[in-house]
Amino acid sequence: MNKENLNICISCNRPESVVPLVSITFSKNATWICTQCLPTLIHNPQNLVEKFENMETENPPEALN
Ligand SMILES: [Zn+2]
Repeated sequence: MNKENLNICISCNRPESVVPLVSITFSKNATWICTQCLPTLIHNPQNLVEKFENMETENPPEALN
């Protein structure tokens, strides 16, 4: 398996080979979050909003056509 093709959790950066990932979108950014971080997203969404905002500036997603 090619590691570069693995999706990683936006919160803990673990790859899908280690934890199950759930696809989520926020502010038109699509990304992944693992099932263990999902409760964090539910209870403290502001913690992840920051990550999404950083992702937008430092790691822009591919253009969605
Ligand atoms: Zn995670």
